Amino acid sequence: MGSAEDGGLDELARRVSAARAATEARGETFYQGASRVHLAAFPPRERWDDWVELSSRAWPAREERHYMLVPTTCFNCESACGLLAYVDRDTRQVRKFEGNPEHPGSRGRNCAKGPATLNQVTDPDRVLYPMKRAGRRGEGRWARISWDEALDALAARIRAALTEGRQNEIMVHIGRPGEDGFTERVLASWGVDGHNSHTNVCSSGGRTGFQFWMGIDRPSPDHARAKVIYLISAHLEAGHYFNPHAQRITQARQNGAKVIVVDTRLSNTATHADYWLSPQPGSEAAINLAIANHLIQAKAYDREFVRRWWNWAEYLTACHPGTPVTFEEFEDILAGLYADYTFESAAAESGLDAAVIAEVAAVVAGAGHRFACHSWRSAAAGNLGGWQVSRTLFLIAALLGAVATEGGTFPNAWNKFVPRPIHTPPHPGVWQELSWPPEYPLAQNEMSFLLPHFLAEGRGRLDTYFIRVYNPVWTNPDGLSWMEALCDEDKVGCFVALTPTWSESAWFADYVLPMGHGPERHDTHSYEQYDGQWVAFRQPVLRAARARLGEHVADTREVNPGEVWEENEFWIELSWRIDPDGSLGIRRYHESRERPGDKLTVDEYYGWMFSHSVPGLPQRAAAEGLSPLAWMRRYGAFEISRGQGAVHEQEVPETELADVSVSPIGRVYSAAPPAPDPNITPAGAPPPDQAGRRAAGVMVDGVVRRGFPTPSGRLEFWSSTLAAWGWPEHALPGYIRSHVHPSRLAEGQVVLLSTFRLPTQIHTRSANAKWLDELAHTNPVWIHPADAARFGIGRTGELVRVETEIGHFVAKAWITEGIRPGVVACSHHMGRWRLDGGPRGAGGMMATVGLSRGDEGWQMQRRAPAGPYESADPDSQRIWWTDTGVHQNLTFGVHPDPISGMHCWHQAVRVRPAAPGDRHGDIAVDTRKARQVYRDWLALARPAGQVSPDRTRRPHWLMRPLKPAAAAFALPGADRDPA
Ligand code: SF4
Repeated sequence: MGSAEDGGLDELARRVSAARAATEARGETFYQGASRVHLAAFPPRERWDDWVELSSRAWPAREERHYMLVPTTCFNCESACGLLAYVDRDTRQVRKFEGNPEHPGSRGRNCAKGPATLNQVTDPDRVLYPMKRAGRRGEGRWARISWDEALDALAARIRAALTEGRQNEIMVHIGRPGEDGFTERVLASWGVDGHNSHTNVCSSGGRTGFQFWMGIDRPSPDHARAKVIYLISAHLEAGHYFNPHAQRITQARQNGAKVIVVDTRLSNTATHADYWLSPQPGSEAAINLAIANHLIQAKAYDREFVRRWWNWAEYLTACHPGTPVTFEEFEDILAGLYADYTFESAAAESGLDAAVIAEVAAVVAGAGHRFACHSWRSAAAGNLGGWQVSRTLFLIAALLGAVATEGGTFPNAWNKFVPRPIHTPPHPGVWQELSWPPEYPLAQNEMSFLLPHFLAEGRGRLDTYFIRVYNPVWTNPDGLSWMEALCDEDKVGCFVALTPTWSESAWFADYVLPMGHGPERHDTHSYEQYDGQWVAFRQPVLRAARARLGEHVADTREVNPGEVWEENEFWIELSWRIDPDGSLGIRRYHESRERPGDKLTVDEYYGWMFSHSVPGLPQRAAAEGLSPLAWMRRYGAFEISRGQGAVHEQEVPETELADVSVSPIGRVYSAAPPAPDPNITPAGAPPPDQAGRRAAGVMVDGVVRRGFPTPSGRLEFWSSTLAAWGWPEHALPGYIRSHVHPSRLAEGQVVLLSTFRLPTQIHTRSANAKWLDELAHTNPVWIHPADAARFGIGRTGELVRVETEIGHFVAKAWITEGIRPGVVACSHHMGRWRLDGGPRGAGGMMATVGLSRGDEGWQMQRRAPAGPYESADPDSQRIWWTDTGVHQNLTFGVHPDPISGMHCWHQAVRVRPAAPGDRHGDIAVDTRKARQVYRDWLALARPAGQVSPDRTRRPHWLMRPLKPAAAAFALPGADRDPA
């Protein structure tokens, strides 16, 4: 050190370079530490079998602790960051979780929620054993049962439903998927179209806008190499792919990138931005269009990219008949299309300063191809027509030509890898109208949040309804309508909660079956986080630790606490019991290939996947003398490729072209099968031609290129799908005035933003993480000082009543200039509750409430706040907070967007001082009003029976998580009247 200190920074840098060169020369990863003289920030992987740390508790004695470091994947948001479990070699218990430096997406870094996984594993309130309801549904009485009893009872019900032709009475409703398609394939093996998701209360608005442009429903911004980063919402601190994106945005900022954040609320992300735009909620698309118009009028767009890759010729042909189909004609028309979207008009809609919008537009124009953008929940999830927020955002990227460029925005499927499974069952032959109703033929995902209303209308019933890591009573809008449905055994015959924790929904279940947290289960993952592809392995870490010691674990329950299981083994076992002799044709999809007639094991399932469908992994593993499965169990993540680049520009090889036809708009169809390209994740199937030839590419200047998986093969500025399916007025990127547009607010109403996340909480599972609870446990209503004065609210902490169209909630005020006047905001995550007398659920975050029903509807009143309690964890005695916020979602009616199907979360509300007798957390809801709100929004829909151009239920090319067989797409003879 002496010479280094003497030599200053140059000498330090020389030493670091030398250490890096020496390490890399050995073919090893160089872990640059936080210190300038290379203190290792991460344990080098060659020491993961016996990593030694000194016990902090034993200090000043130097007491060594020996750990085996076992990788897994975080399950606390969708980013799938790598974790390393520190398994104590003496006790065989996990002592902590830290980042996995071998993970290409997260690169060893995590947010607070990653290490807090330990709290979930050691949670004293978790569900450890299978439970069966002992009293009336919702009465809160339970009896412990065996797994065999639960499995046999469920298998008998499902088998009866299948053999009696009641396939549509089976449904599995998924919250956090945490996997790439395992459950969908289980349902397909049963012949059931029973997959339901949470996506239409989450991200489908954002997805829809990208889907209609690219045929792929997510962007993959190359943040790290961008010059300008444009974020709608708080992506840096609480957004989609939060930590992996945040670290790359930070990297870009260090390199001088400008960050523009559009968020009505002053989020932590906004505090880091170069430009924070706080618009009137719902005006975001108008701002995007003003920027786009600036690029068009200033001719600051990439003409060659637009000419080659937009479907302008198709647009001219369809919408401007008689006009010469030339690019120059299109440019003339384009110049007029958005001419009204001036900076001044955007300012009028958004309340922003026109000069600021102009300045931002100039910054965007200077980005060239290095423009990385993202829009996900936030505005796209808040507003009627919110999907146009992401569609207009991508318009900017498409004008700049910043698509699949260095520092630009990629289609996500090119930066993601989904391995093939060992068995692929056929598409089910039925169509589930309770999830995919005829009114919403273009819905991006299942119309999940309307389920209680569909059941109430008698559209169907459910014999067996599973929820998996999902809490519909708490997560969805209109949760008391959910509660009413779940309590009705005529509507839901058997309700099964597969869950690690007690929840507001599990309370009403017939079976509560304990499932593992992230480090107690298997899954694979791959997400778009940079221009490359990786696959990561979530695994039960104690099982992997035992395997590393040479022990055999046949069933994950052997290593999990209590009788906690994992879904993979559960579904395989249940499928066998449904079809014990194989006569239903189900069992074969859950059988071993190595030992025909035996049950498939998770070792074989993932072993086959890693050996047969992850390019490069077998070779990499062999170089270390390991099987691909053993390699993944040891390191947890594998990078398949880097630098995908512009896949759409790739020439289609001759071998993939046979009996070719070319449509008038240049779509190229081929009778030859595609060569399997391991570096491209299939992203959907554009429609074939009339002869059944598949869409193989697109003709660009005489060359057949791969293009995009849209019907035209190009980026669809104009969507033939929207035009053909009843929405021609929205076929171009445009601006739809929100249901909370100022012109639609009644006297005294303001907009409530209800969609935003807190950086240290997750939707429904984090309440069982004590460290996170201590960091964030309440959700006051953000109110601007000018509004507070108007509402008669004097100070922060005063109780306010927030009145929605179906009821009200009582919360504390937070008076802040971090929100624009005329808008209030309240985070989700909070207001967890439990009914008196039942399981504690999450002691530090659940208030005990009373729930009653009178002439005016439901009343929920808080009986006891959260507070200290006795448990196996002494920290539960140290809970110092009592305020756990309010469950605002109960007071929201359902708002399905008629096109995307997204629930439009923003609310028009009145805010006033609390009434005498109001208590923090009180809720009042009239579910009869909720039914009327449902009907009002349903009337906006344009049912397939009226608009389908081909008598099908839905465009076949649109994505669907579990796609039925083609025949099931045919509309039945009679169509439902939306009124
Ligand atoms: S961002 Fe945080 S919660 Fe999400 S996967 Fe990474 S560590 Fe876990």
